[in-house]
Amino acid sequence: MLRLRRRYTVGPRDAPTRKWVIEVSPVVRLELLKESRLRIGWYACKLGDHISVKRCYRCQAFGHVAAVCLRDPVCGFCAAKGHTFRECKREGTPKCANCSVTAEDPNHEAGDLRCPSTRRAMETQIKRTDYGKNDQ
Ligand SMILES: [Zn+2]
Ligand SMILES: [Zn+2]
Ligand SMILES: [Zn+2]
Repeated sequence: MLRLRRRYTVGPRDAPTRKWVIEVSPVVRLELLKESRLRIGWYACKLGDHISVKRCYRCQAFGHVAAVCLRDPVCGFCAAKGHTFRECKREGTPKCANCSVTAEDPNHEAGDLRCPSTRRAMETQIKRTDYGKNDQ
């Protein structure tokens, strides 16, 4: 019998798909990830690790939020210093503030899910997350 604890639901209430964040033991997690889908009643659920990286909306850096940010604003659209995403005129191609530093293809918004910098920050977060020992 699979025991799982439903933690919270992500996304709007009326969305066609719902996302549940559940907490399971490390052993169960590995079993679930093998399956990639889980049947709960009539529902076939897609499975995956829930990862969220904090990205600052003020300076675009990872690991903190705008509320605690003491840096100068960096635009999330054009990567220019001195104005925020909201104040940006949004002309031309977007430029990612994080990727323009790392010399990767920076032609996307800083909040783009395909952003290589965001992905790397997620990977670091996965490595940092303690999923527990595989043996019990
Ligand atoms: Zn910041
Ligand atoms: Zn801008
Ligand atoms: Zn990027």
